[in-house]
This record gives sequence, C-alpha cells and structure tokens, in this order.
Amino acid sequence: MYLTIRTRLTLWYSGVLAASFLGFFWICDRGFQRSIETTVNDASRNNLEAVRRIIDKYSPEGPARLARELRELADLWANGAIFEVIGSDGTMLFASEPFSSPQFPIPQPSREKIGFLTTNLANLQYRIAQQTISLRGENFEINAAVPTEPFDQALDNFRVIEKQFLPLLVLLACLLGYWLAGRAMAPVGRIIRSAAEIGVYSLSRRLEIPRAHDELRRLTETLNEMLDRVERSVNRITQFTADASHDLRTPLSVIRSDAEIALRKPRTAAEYRESLARILHASEGATGLIESLLTLARADGRNSNLKMRVVDVTPILQKVAAQMSLLAASQGLSLAPILSDHPMRLHGDPDAIEKLLLILLDNAVKYTPSPGFIWLRSLRANGDAVFEVQDTGIGIAGQDQQHIFDRFYRADQARTGKIPGSGLGLAIASWIVTSHQGNIEVQSVAGEGSLFRVRIPLVGECHALEDFSDSCAPLNSI
Ligand code: ADP
Repeated sequence: MYLTIRTRLTLWYSGVLAASFLGFFWICDRGFQRSIETTVNDASRNNLEAVRRIIDKYSPEGPARLARELRELADLWANGAIFEVIGSDGTMLFASEPFSSPQFPIPQPSREKIGFLTTNLANLQYRIAQQTISLRGENFEINAAVPTEPFDQALDNFRVIEKQFLPLLVLLACLLGYWLAGRAMAPVGRIIRSAAEIGVYSLSRRLEIPRAHDELRRLTETLNEMLDRVERSVNRITQFTADASHDLRTPLSVIRSDAEIALRKPRTAAEYRESLARILHASEGATGLIESLLTLARADGRNSNLKMRVVDVTPILQKVAAQMSLLAASQGLSLAPILSDHPMRLHGDPDAIEKLLLILLDNAVKYTPSPGFIWLRSLRANGDAVFEVQDTGIGIAGQDQQHIFDRFYRADQARTGKIPGSGLGLAIASWIVTSHQGNIEVQSVAGEGSLFRVRIPLVGECHALEDFSDSCAPLNSI
C-alpha cells in the first residue's frame, strides 16, 4: 500500500502520542486508586483509634457507661462512618445499624495489628479497620468502617473524563501531527516540483536552497552538485559529438570530392591511381578516427575490452621501438631505445600498452622536425615501470600542457602547422594509463622538445632500488 511520508509521520506521531496519553492516564488512575486506598485506610484507622480511646477511658466504669459513650461517639461522626465493639464475653457493646446486616460474615480481628478489609454492609461498600484490643484483662473486638462509595464515585468520574478526553486528545494529536508533517515536508514538495522542471535543455537551472540548515538543505545542495556534474558531462558529450562529426566530415568530403572530380570526365590511369590513393588515405584517416572514437566510447561505457593479465612489457617495448625506428628514419629522425634488460612485469593488457607506446612515439615523430632525436626509455623506479618518450620537437606551450589530454584538443602549433591528427591520441593514452592504475605526465618547453613519462605499478617487484641504481632514482627533468 502506498503511504506518503506525511501520512506515515502523522500515523507515527499520533500513535506515539496516543500511547503516551494512555500511559499517562493509566498512571493517574493507579495513583488515584492508591490515594483513595490510603485515605480510606487512614480514615478507618483513625476511627478505630478514637473508639479504642473511648474503650480505654470508659471500660472501667462498666459496660452500660461504655455503651453510652460509644453511642455518643457514633452520633458525633459524620460522613457515614460507623463501628461496632464486641466485649470479652461476646456481648455486643455497640454496633452501628449497618453492622446488623453484613452481606458476608466479618472475620474476627487479629490481636497484633490493625487489619483492613472491604465488604458490603446493608448494600453499601465499606472499608473496615479491625483489631482486638486487651485492656485490663478484657478483650474488645473493634470494627471501624468508612463508606467507600464517595471515593469510588470520584474515581468513576475521573474515568469518565479519561474516556471522553482520550479520543479527543488523539484526534488533536492526529491533526497536529498532520499539520507538523505537512510543514516539515513542504520543502520536499518544492524540491520535487523544481527537479521535475529540470530537463536536458534546462540543465543550467538549480534547485532553490532552503533557508534552514538541515538535512533538506544538504539534500538540495547535493542534488545541485549532482546537476553540476551532469551538466558538465552532458556538455562534454555534446562537445565531443560536435567535434567528432566535424572531424569525420573532413575525410568524407575529401573522399566525396575526389570521387566526384575523378568521375566528371575520363582520366588517365595515373590520375585515377592518384585519386584512389587520396581516397584511400582519407578513408584510412576516417577509419582511424572512428577506431579512436570507439575506444573512447567503450572506455566511457566501462566496456573497454581490456584483457588484463601479468605481462612482461620489455618485449613490447622492443617491438614498438623497432617498428617506430623505421618510421622515424623515414622522417629524417633518429630513435634511440634505452630499454631495461630486466623483465618488467605488470598487470595489464599487452595490446593497450603497445597502443599507448605507439601513440607517444607517433606524436614524437609527428611533432619533431628533421633532423631530430627521439628517445624511448624504460626503467624501474619505486615499484613502478617507467616509460619515457622524449623528443627534440616543437614542444608544447605552458598553457596547452594542461589540455593536451582532453579529447580533440590540439595545440595551435599542431593545427596551424597542418600536422595531421585528431586530438584523441593522448586522451586514449591517458585512459589506458589510468586503467592500469598508473599516471602520465608531460614536461615540455616550446621550441625545445617534450618528455612524456608514464608510470605503471609493477607486480610483485622491487619497491626500492632493484634495477640498475640509476633507474630507481628519481628522474631528472629534461
Ligand atoms: P593529435 O592527433 O593532435 O596528435 P594527441 O591527443 O595525440 O592528438 O595530442 C594532442 C596535442 O598535444 C597535439 O595536437 C599536440 O598539439 C600536442 N602534442 C602531443 N604530443 C606532442 C609532442 N611530442 N610534441 C609536441 N606537441 C605534442
């Protein structure tokens, strides 16, 4: 069953208050009963004491005198208090009228102490204090009684009031609870309404912060922080989509225009080959871009397809170095691999590590004019595998260094220098490194060269100096 928080709070509030009222009334009732009991006991005991004093005073003067005095005492008492006194030989010295018609036989009083009992005399309930006293060798049984009816009446009246008030108080508690819960939940209603109005096209809107410094304010602030993050992500995705479409349009228009021009009139075989070569090159560019986009999309979707295992990266470094040396040489550059002879085992995906190294070396080749140098180093330091790709290329200006790992970011020099690229390589590199619990950093001076340094934790390897001492020492900046 669906119950709103307001209803639930009201039910709880009313339930707790009703239980408290019940408890309170029960305690009052018990207290009242106790107090009545004490009062009637005291009253009957006092009466018994008064009778005892009369017996004490007048018994030496004979039973007739004693009986007279007892009658006078009885006449003096108001409020229906009564008594009876039975002498040693069982003669009734005095008995108020109701004692002649007890509903049940009254037990004999004890000698030691005053006893109490409640019984009916002449259809009225009485509390009787009773005792047998011995005076000058004579025994007197005393029963002194007070009617309990007035007290019972007071208790009944109190219970009637209880019964009338309890439902009224519970009803009041319900109404008060409902009103209080409504007040407490009002900001939640406002949050729900404002949140419902926020959509993908109004992501810059924020929820109004309640004035009170309470949990709802914290909730609103947290929701606003979440909206900040969602807005940033949506902006990034929108930007990414726009950049990706823009970058895909370029090779596609090259392909299209080249094909159109080639088809416009008959061409020589050489011209067709030239056009097809350009189309092939442009489609290779588009394929590369799509592959990069797919890699990043998978990375975003936590569906990276990385096949992690313990792998020795030294052979991968050697393979990549050999492969890139040829490319570097074709560009008039020298690539010098300075690789650790020791195995460097880490938990990773060999294909991803290879891709990471290819990205860094490809960039080094692209952004280093001939003649130039490129170094590929691998070493172990403080339990990490460290790879460095250093070049003597165009370098990266200070303000660009913090953005080059962003998607589609390309420094001015790269764009204006017409150096081919999509601005996705380093974003992929950075993702690969992060997926391997490592980090990547750049040190660069514009016009002098760049150094990219990657650290990835080794598995079960040295956490101090283990390789040749130079490798484990902190790296000097270039
Ligand atoms: P791109 O496809 O443009 O090379 P990357 O993400 O690999 O994309 O690199 C982003 C930008 O970082 C490049 O456009 C370039 O401006 C800069 N960059 C990367 N590597 C180097 C380097 N070795 N030397 C100078 N600039 C570099």
